Amino acid sequence: MLQIDNLHAEVDGKAILKGLSLSLNAGEIHAIMGPNGAGKSTLGYVLSGRPGYEVTEGSVTFEGADLLALAPYERAAAGLFLGFQYPVEIPGVSNLQFLREALNAQRRARGEEPLSGGDFIKRARAQADALGLDPEMLKRPVNVGFSGGEKKRAEMVQMGIIDPKLAILDETDSGLDIDALRSVGAGINTIMRKPDRAVLLITHYQRLLDYVKPDFVHVLAGGRIVRSGGPELAHQLEAEGYADIAA
Ligand code: ADP
Ligand code: MG
Repeated sequence: MLQIDNLHAEVDGKAILKGLSLSLNAGEIHAIMGPNGAGKSTLGYVLSGRPGYEVTEGSVTFEGADLLALAPYERAAAGLFLGFQYPVEIPGVSNLQFLREALNAQRRARGEEPLSGGDFIKRARAQADALGLDPEMLKRPVNVGFSGGEKKRAEMVQMGIIDPKLAILDETDSGLDIDALRSVGAGINTIMRKPDRAVLLITHYQRLLDYVKPDFVHVLAGGRIVRSGGPELAHQLEAEGYADIAA
């Protein structure tokens, strides 16, 4: 589904990704771990096309297409979703307005009929219920006044409504209490654990991986993948830290 080959990228003239290669098949969940400043969030931004993140070398293919040649909205319409490490507040725009516009823009770009108001509300309520977010919160402006945990739940509600092919989830577990962690983990499994879906799960902690069991675990350090393994690698990192592996 996703093939990243020798990716080099810089921000403000500073090289951050330095020859990163990674490939994901449909049906797989990959965890990416690594020390602070390794380039994990940068990878998510480069894949989603955030302005200011310049690719200087390498290639990314998504479902056979050159991902880097697409504008950010085209990447979203192609099925890419980014869950932010720090979700953005959008005063004046309700979650419902925002998500209905986003979903229908993607449906139109794919040549599908937009969802009617009634059908959309049903879908949004079902997702909020599934994620343990009070559906009334969907009427409020995007993330404004939400607690850290509510923002992360709201991101997963967004993902459930948008129903992407590939989700890149950047520290979705940060700031979650135990109950929220469990429902967010269950939400990721329900929405994304399917033969035609894939997830790139960026996390520092084993605890999310107890709920969302990865097929592969990678260590990103110094702008490239320095180690790949199975779920046992996450346990090893939790016990030993990154120092030996990332050195
Ligand atoms: P991680 O998510 O792995 O903690 P990031 O991808 O956020 O790491 O950051 C990787 C490196 O890029 C860090 O050293 C960070 O300071 C640097 N960086 C990120 N954004 C910018 C920017 N806009 N200008 C300069 N350096 C940046
Ligand atoms: Mg980060």
